[in-house]
Amino acid sequence: MQFACTQVPWAAVRYSRECTSHRVVRNDVPQTNDTHIDEGAMCEVLLDGHFGYAATADLSASGLQAAFAQAIATTRASSARKAHAFAPRQRPPVTGNYRSARARDLDATGLAEIMDCLLAATAAMKGVDTLVNRMAHAMLVQTQVDYFTSAGGHTAQSFDMVSLNLSATAAQGSQSQTRSWSRTGQWGGEVFAREATVQQAQRIAREALDLLAAPNCPSGPMDLVLMPDQMMLQIHESIGHPLELDRILGDERNYAGWSFVQPEDFGRLRYGSELMNISFDPTRSHEFASYAYDDGGNPATKEMLIEGGILKRGLGALESQERSGIPGVANFRAASWNRAPIDRMANINLEPGTASLNELIGQVERGILMHTNRSWSIDDYRNKFQFGCEYAQLIEDGRLGAVVRNPNYRGITVDFWNRLAGVGREDEAHGTPYCGKGEPNQIIRVGHASPPCLFRGVEVFGGQA
Ligand SMILES: [Zn+2]
Repeated sequence: MQFACTQVPWAAVRYSRECTSHRVVRNDVPQTNDTHIDEGAMCEVLLDGHFGYAATADLSASGLQAAFAQAIATTRASSARKAHAFAPRQRPPVTGNYRSARARDLDATGLAEIMDCLLAATAAMKGVDTLVNRMAHAMLVQTQVDYFTSAGGHTAQSFDMVSLNLSATAAQGSQSQTRSWSRTGQWGGEVFAREATVQQAQRIAREALDLLAAPNCPSGPMDLVLMPDQMMLQIHESIGHPLELDRILGDERNYAGWSFVQPEDFGRLRYGSELMNISFDPTRSHEFASYAYDDGGNPATKEMLIEGGILKRGLGALESQERSGIPGVANFRAASWNRAPIDRMANINLEPGTASLNELIGQVERGILMHTNRSWSIDDYRNKFQFGCEYAQLIEDGRLGAVVRNPNYRGITVDFWNRLAGVGREDEAHGTPYCGKGEPNQIIRVGHASPPCLFRGVEVFGGQA
């Protein structure tokens, strides 16, 4: 497709079609089997230095013309109040393709195979009556995004994504404990490997029962080892969100919040210890937010946000980079065809170090190891936080010991990251489909890969946080 543009200096259209299926099995009973298709186009114009948008689900020529007419009218009306005068260079005229890496297309993966895997998982969690809730959920997403610009740009990207989630809840009296496991990212049908899924199901069911019988987590300062499925949340909330340039510029203040990071902190702020290396990397395969181009057509490259603990770069796309003068990344992302792109996280990863997990644990005289996020709370400036995990084991004299339940820890972002004293050498990617931001709201997928990490002298506490 090519389109000519005579009424405005620059225009673009982003077509998106997303097919989402949910399959759920609870306590051996299939409960959900639904598929939803969302398809439409966002028309975009640049007029008087101002970008404006209008979306339509009517993909006929007349439907698109009507959306462009609306985009031109609203852009003309609002350009007098623009935050900044932009130019076509904020939408590079790039051509190229992307396709998720996967062993087997989701199209070639039958419903029977998926349901067999989910049923086997909940059956594997069955044992004693105290295991009251055994859940297996698969979300399958296939997305096609095509972006055409009047300057000749055309990017075509095709994504296959899977989130396979298991959870086991054990309850007795007023106590209940849940263990969960998930595999989330750009994958195909290879995720539904029956044997590997059954092994995870058996493990979390056993661990939920162990938690029910375990004592409460102790309170006090101690060394803390966080596993990758909690590091994901730690990175997301205390690095990803505060580095978003639109927050730092004040755009998000009345909704998702601001940031403790100031524009002058880039290149200077010691965010964490020298072991802290954080990358923005949509080019890594199989994470949830892997892509080749952002939704403004900017080619994605791996960039270091924090190097040796020093803040280097923000999470801002070309518009925010132009406004702030701060170096950024290709992270202009829209949650759907009917949303304008904004600065988002994509894959934000903590780069691996050199220690094995046993070496991290071996450095701890008195501490605790925590798995899997359960709860989180962080202030509007992304400064003070407290996070809860599902499962923990005490560490004494360099060895893992007793299981404890309801583990939590709290900290202040920069102080906490400066306590980073050990970084594992084997990372693991996790992701979530539920990062929220923007007005109107945009819920978007993000990925975070991290090895296990050791933090010294963290405030730990027990109880339901
Ligand atoms: Zn988020």
